[in-house]
Amino acid sequence: GLTVIGFKMAGKKPDHEHPYGHERSESISGLLISIVIMFVGLQFVKSSLDKIISPSALRLSTTVYIILVISIILKLAQVYFYRLIGKTIDSPTLIATAKDSLNDVFTTIAVLLSAIIQASTGWHLDGWVGLGVAIYILFSAASLIKTFINDLLGHQPGHELVERMDALLQTYDDILGFHDLLIHQYGPNMIFASVHVEFDSNWTLNQAHHVTDKIEHDFWHQAQIHLVCHIDPIDINNQKYAKIYEAVQAVIKHYELGLTTHDFHVEELVNGDKLIQFDVVVPEHITTSDDELLVSINHDLRKILGQVTAEITFDHNYIGDDHSLI
Ligand SMILES: [Zn+2]
Ligand SMILES: [Zn+2]
Ligand SMILES: [Zn+2]
Repeated sequence: GLTVIGFKMAGKKPDHEHPYGHERSESISGLLISIVIMFVGLQFVKSSLDKIISPSALRLSTTVYIILVISIILKLAQVYFYRLIGKTIDSPTLIATAKDSLNDVFTTIAVLLSAIIQASTGWHLDGWVGLGVAIYILFSAASLIKTFINDLLGHQPGHELVERMDALLQTYDDILGFHDLLIHQYGPNMIFASVHVEFDSNWTLNQAHHVTDKIEHDFWHQAQIHLVCHIDPIDINNQKYAKIYEAVQAVIKHYELGLTTHDFHVEELVNGDKLIQFDVVVPEHITTSDDELLVSINHDLRKILGQVTAEITFDHNYIGDDHSLI
């Protein structure tokens, strides 16, 4: 029932109140199913413990054995069916339902095995087998809950998606580079992204707009991604600030932290001092704080350039590599 409601909602078109569509409702129904699975697991732990504490004679007729075997076969068919459809239409809810059915298969097999062992040896194993199965169910429910909560919080986009976008962006020879890729996913088929695209600053606005329009159009038609491009002009022939730019690169490289820069810009202040602005991309594993980096970059730049001030934006997007020209 929950699955059906989740699906109906997920398939709905975006509307006034939910402009990003309804695909995340599928994660909500998946989360609810996982919580139900969790409760079933807890119930099973309790009943298994009861059986271990006070073992009771388990007598099963031949009919019961046959019914157990048939239900195992039916459940397995269901698992296969849900998985197949779930993967075809990329539905995490159906894959969760498949896992639920697979849990039923293990539970039933456990009951069947312990009944057979008990009938032939007289050992009371059903409680222990049940406990093992219950623990398995709890673990699988916990991992499902984690997946759905990640979907709802908006987790790191898949490597595959980032690589596909990177590759597509690199096919444009007209652009000098790109950086600051951001991806917002509201479900498997609702992807919004933005990227900074670098252009030769001698180009006209019309030229740059023409290329960004083409990129946005291509992303929609080739990958169903709603992409918006931000235009960054780059003064490729400017010799005036080349020395400053090289000093910045030398300082950054010296730290050996894997930092990269983009959006380099120099402003001359009224008192003759120079204000250097740029972004620094900080890799995920770096533990140095932005404030510490800002202080030491400024300190090191002044040793080379004298009275300058660096104004830095630190990027912590962790999405894709920096493909900036400078
Ligand atoms: Zn930029
Ligand atoms: Zn436009
Ligand atoms: Zn940036």
